[in-house]
Amino acid sequence: MNVMDIFETMEYGPAPEAATPALAWLKERQPFGLFINNQWVKPASGKYLDSISPASAKPLAQVAAANSTDVDAAVAAARTAFTSWGQTPGHVRARYLYAIARHIQKHSRLLAVLESLDNGKSIRETRDLDIPLVARHFYYHAGWAQLMASELPGYEPVGVVGQIIPWNFPLLMLAWKIAPALAMGNTVVLKPARYTSLTALKFAEIVQEVGLPPGVVNIVTGEASQVGEALVKHPDVNKIAFTGSTDVGRSIRRVTAGSGKKLSLELGGKSPFIVFDDADLDSVVEGVVDAIWFNQGQVCCAGSRLLVQEDIADRLITKLRTRMEKLRIGDPLDKAIDMGAIVSPGQLNEIQRLVAQGVEEGATMWQPSWACPTDGYFFPPTLFTNVAPAATIAQVEIFGPVLVSMTFRTPTEAVALANNTRYRLAASVWSENINLALDIAPKLKAGTVWVNCTNMFDASSGFGGYRESGYGREGGKEGLYEYVRPGWEKITASTIATPTTPTTPATLATSNGSSPSGDANTQRAGELVADEDMRENGHDALGFHSDLPPIDRTPKLFIKGKQVRPDSGYSRDVYDSHGRVIGQVGEGNRKDIRNAVEAAHAASGWAAGTTHNRAQILYYIAENLAVREKEFARRIVEQTGRPYTAAAEEVQTSIARLFSYAAWTDKYEGAVHRPPLRGVVLAMKEQMGVIGVACPDEYPLLGFISLVAPAIAMGNTVVVIPSQSDPLCATDCYQVLETSDLPAGVVNIVTGERDALSQVVAEHDDVDAMWYFGTADGSRQIELASAGNMKRTWVSYGHPRNWLDSVQGEGEEFLRESTQVKNIWVPYGE
Ligand code: NAD
Ligand code: MN
Repeated sequence: MNVMDIFETMEYGPAPEAATPALAWLKERQPFGLFINNQWVKPASGKYLDSISPASAKPLAQVAAANSTDVDAAVAAARTAFTSWGQTPGHVRARYLYAIARHIQKHSRLLAVLESLDNGKSIRETRDLDIPLVARHFYYHAGWAQLMASELPGYEPVGVVGQIIPWNFPLLMLAWKIAPALAMGNTVVLKPARYTSLTALKFAEIVQEVGLPPGVVNIVTGEASQVGEALVKHPDVNKIAFTGSTDVGRSIRRVTAGSGKKLSLELGGKSPFIVFDDADLDSVVEGVVDAIWFNQGQVCCAGSRLLVQEDIADRLITKLRTRMEKLRIGDPLDKAIDMGAIVSPGQLNEIQRLVAQGVEEGATMWQPSWACPTDGYFFPPTLFTNVAPAATIAQVEIFGPVLVSMTFRTPTEAVALANNTRYRLAASVWSENINLALDIAPKLKAGTVWVNCTNMFDASSGFGGYRESGYGREGGKEGLYEYVRPGWEKITASTIATPTTPTTPATLATSNGSSPSGDANTQRAGELVADEDMRENGHDALGFHSDLPPIDRTPKLFIKGKQVRPDSGYSRDVYDSHGRVIGQVGEGNRKDIRNAVEAAHAASGWAAGTTHNRAQILYYIAENLAVREKEFARRIVEQTGRPYTAAAEEVQTSIARLFSYAAWTDKYEGAVHRPPLRGVVLAMKEQMGVIGVACPDEYPLLGFISLVAPAIAMGNTVVVIPSQSDPLCATDCYQVLETSDLPAGVVNIVTGERDALSQVVAEHDDVDAMWYFGTADGSRQIELASAGNMKRTWVSYGHPRNWLDSVQGEGEEFLRESTQVKNIWVPYGE
């Protein structure tokens, strides 16, 4: 080629980054051992696996194939290390994290080349994006280690954390996991993905270099079936943090159900990329390149569904095809290529299979005219048009460079189409009309929304989704809570005050696993006896004397603001503390729960109202409860046999609690982040949606109020199953709710058998979260059932909570469970 040719074609020359230093580094060290207690140890199996370079299909190095014996050793090392690391002052932990960040930067070139070689992604991405973000994550969390004591008072580390990561961003996912875990004082056993362990092993060297105490970080390589499963099941692991596919996430939810292990899941996505007709189309084209061809589309939040306003669709598709024709695919170490290789032959097959299915189902496929290199695992950028919204390729995560496009006419249609997915991870909106974009953003069901940008990340802004995209956030302050628990939870059950519950009839479940304390009988002397005398002498619950028999009042269920008969037509008896029947409540069933969920959905306008209005209604509920204070106290005495003074305290605390959440309603607010870009990230605290609430047996009124008030304060609507043994306080609230201007359907109450009803709620596809305060086994059942649509759960595992105590019974924990953070990225500038 002569100078004139080059001038004409403007063809790039090759600009390869040298692989030699990385290859030399590998050669010196392999076969790699496992990194346990800051030492390299041989795997128990004596076996090793090849790590392949996807661009050449040739082996790069051998890594250890660990098994459960090795996992045991790593967990034991982490446990021992935790005893001191968990007590290490935040400032000391901050120094270590800071040192790690510095060392990442010092080794950035080697890390970038290693990552490109091992994963097949372009050096441009590893050098300019992955590795800088890794360093940023450690710096950011060094700061949280420093501030933990003052900014997260009352919280403690969880303990030993098992972390499992995928291959698409090997070192970045490691950083997202390890940085917050160490910052909060936990120790770690990390399993890299089978195909991409090499940068994690380089990271292990950095751990040694900075002198992190042995056992704080352990890295165990190998197969999912050997290492991943052993880690998930390990009884001495306190939390599992997982990033990967939805199927595996679901199975981890099931395996850990009832174990009390904390769990965070970052799963798949099928994110919409919405283009309105006033968008800047040239920016859109570059946005699409970043959305779906970045990292060969192997990105959980890839903008894989292009939704275009109808009138500009043809123009945009034409522009896109022109751009695709110019994309360069090839050696990942070439600095001038756009796309590298697919990580493995298995992934390549899967992409080919889904693309073939797309064609078979009738969509139009378009690929550039040039051919891919043939010596590695390459797949060209691919665009589908004429895609039906229900087509496989429109619904299933392809995890490759494949874009499907659909059209819409109106903003409402755009939102409906965008939300037509099981996933809730990310979305981007393109329009020059900022009012339109900011109106659309909150309506998109996703954890992250990018306005006129895409695939932006920063440690300050939490990342994560909901439903089949998992739960929990990584980054931001919200991400820290995945790695801590309230300090009071460690207090043993016996030191927590539980109300004294005299023996309940055998047919009824007792309170959630807590044993009534021995002096129950002495405590329910006095006023209780007086109260019973009153009733037996013809006084009603309020103490008025009457010669007439009382009018029977059988509470029904409370659905859509109305008292409705249970579908079953059955009632169940409610007993007093002596086993005498004091009333009946409706025996709710599956159908009642379905109706309640439907009503709760229909009331979603509650979230759109002003926080001022919601606060007013909570105050009003408190006011109406206060009017009937004595009546409620007597009802508690009647059901539980507790002393009147204790019952009165429960009512008083319930009223105070309503005031607390009325106060919080317009004060538990989001944040504005300033990541390194010209713009802002709006971290909005959004309601979960419909929350199922199974109330504890103890504190029949306070347990109910303590859970319902924060949920509705934050804009959720609820389906509540009251205390099974003592449901009358909740049913007495019907009138309180009816007279407090609460819109119909915001609170729905179904009485009956708590565990059976909870199960129905937990399985329900239209419920977004399930709270359960009951037995240990019931908790396990809820976590199992939740795996269907991957709803978030909050369960007690049968541990008691002192509902009277303001630390355990109210506050931030409840508000956090009622909300999730949505980060909306809004860049500035023309
Ligand atoms: P994968 O679920 O197969 O594997 C992820 C990790 O889990 C690997 O380390 C694997 O070895 C391990 N693993 C597999 N089965 C396991 C089991 N039964 N028990 C314990 N561990 C097990 O996913 P992948 O193919 O490696 O990654 C691609 C998927 O990850 C995509 O679906 C993508 O959407 C998702 N992902 C999500 C995010 C996010 O932040 N939400 C980020 C990256 C990737
Ligand atoms: Mn590899």
